[in-house]
Amino acid sequence: MHYKAPRGTKDILPSETWRWQAVEHKFREVCRLAGFGEIRTPTFEETELFTRSIGEVTDVVSKEMYSFQDRSGRDLTLRPEGTAPVVRAWVENNIGAHGLPSKLFYIGSMYRYERPQAGRYRQFDQFGLEAIGSDDPTLDAEVIALTARFLEQTGAAPFAIRLNSVGTVDSRTLYVEALKGSVEPYLQKLCGSCQTRYEKNPLRMLDCKNPECRALTENVPRLQDYLDEESALHFQRVREALDALGLSYEIDPRLVRGFDYYTRTAFEFTDQALGAQDAICGGGRYDNLVEEIGGPATPAVGMAMGVERLLTVLDSRSAKIGVRPHPVVFVVRLGEKAQVPGLALAARLQELGVPAEMDYGGKSMKAQMKRADKSGARLALLLGDDELASGQVSARDLIAQHQWRLPLQNCAEMIQDYLSTSESGEIEAA
Ligand code: AMP
Repeated sequence: MHYKAPRGTKDILPSETWRWQAVEHKFREVCRLAGFGEIRTPTFEETELFTRSIGEVTDVVSKEMYSFQDRSGRDLTLRPEGTAPVVRAWVENNIGAHGLPSKLFYIGSMYRYERPQAGRYRQFDQFGLEAIGSDDPTLDAEVIALTARFLEQTGAAPFAIRLNSVGTVDSRTLYVEALKGSVEPYLQKLCGSCQTRYEKNPLRMLDCKNPECRALTENVPRLQDYLDEESALHFQRVREALDALGLSYEIDPRLVRGFDYYTRTAFEFTDQALGAQDAICGGGRYDNLVEEIGGPATPAVGMAMGVERLLTVLDSRSAKIGVRPHPVVFVVRLGEKAQVPGLALAARLQELGVPAEMDYGGKSMKAQMKRADKSGARLALLLGDDELASGQVSARDLIAQHQWRLPLQNCAEMIQDYLSTSESGEIEAA
C-alpha cells in the first residue's frame, strides 16, 4: 500500500522549510515593530462560528468547509479562515480590556475544500493581521502599509494594491438592488455561476473572471456611487493616509471580498507572477463581525496573506530571503578508533553554537571529503589514527584551502575562535 498526502495538501520538506521560517521570522518582526501581538487559536471551531460570520451563501460556507461531528456529536469545522476565530477569542478572553484597538497577528494553516490548482490548495497557510476596536481610517492605512512593508522587505515588490470601499450593510443593500436591476435584462447571457450569484450573493457577480460576464457587466452601477456619506468620507481618509505614506494603489470599483462580513475598506495585493490566482493577500474592515458573533459592537480591520503564494512570488523574483542551513564544520572520522572522539568533537562544537556534521558508516576519506565539500561547510576537521596518537586534529579550510593541526583537547574552542576572527566567507550549500 502506498499512501500519498491527501489531494490539495503537500509536504513541506527540510529543503524548503528554511524559507518558510525566514518569511515567518520577517512577518513576526514587522508585526512586533508595529505593536501586533501573536495569537494562536485552535485549528477547529464550532461550525456555527463560521456559518454565522462568513455567511451561508458564500462559497466557503456553502461548499468548502471541512465539517465533522466529534464523538460527542459536536459540530466542528477545520478553520477555513483566521478572522472569525480571532474575533471569537477576542470576545471570549476579553482582550479588549487591555486597551483598544487590540492589534493581533497569526500564522497558521487554513482548510478549504476547493478545486486544487496552482496556488490553490485544500490546506494552505496564512499570515494574518487583525486590529480590533477602532474605525480610525489611519488604522486601515496602517494595516495596508504594514502589509506592503512586509512584502517589500521579503523581496516581493513590485506588487499592485487594489482598493475599494464596500460601504455599510445598508448602502450595500441599496447598491445590490441597483446592480440586480441593471443586470436583469441580460441575466440569461451571464455564466451559470453569475446566475446563481444574482439570486444568492449578487455582489460576487462583480468578481466573475469570465471575460463575457465582465464585458456584459462593464457598465453596471458603481458601488462607490452608493456609499453612505460616512463610508465615503472614511474611504477618502484612508486614501489620503495611503497617499501621505507614499503608497500607490489603484481604486478598483469591482473589488469585493468573498466573505459577507466585510464593510467599508476592501483591498487586495496582486501579482501577475501568480497567474489566475493572482491575490497575494486581501483584507478590509469588518465593523459588524464582533457584534455578529456575540461581542459588543466593535469596528475592526484585518488582512490575510497566502504564504504559499508569497513564496511563489519570491521565487519568481529570485528573492534572497533566509539562509539555507548548512554545517560550518564537517568532522571527517577515519577508522574505528576515531568514531566516538569525532562524535564528541562535533557535539562540543554544537554546544558552542557551531553547526557541525559528520558522515556515518566508516566511509573512505575521499567519500567523506566529497560530502564535506558538498555540504557547504567551511572547515573540515580530520580525525584518524595518526591524529589520535598525537592528540591532534587536522583542520582544513575548504575555502582558503590551507591546512593546519591543532590539539584535540580544546579543538572546538579554538575552531570557534578561528571562525569568529577570520573572514566568514559565507558559502551556499549545493
Ligand atoms: P481569503 O481568506 O479568501 O481572503 O484569502 C486571503 C489570501 O489567502 C488569498 O489572497 C490567498 O493568498 C490565500 N488563499 C486563499 N485561499 C487559498 C487556497 N485555497 N490556497 C492557497 N492560498 C489561498
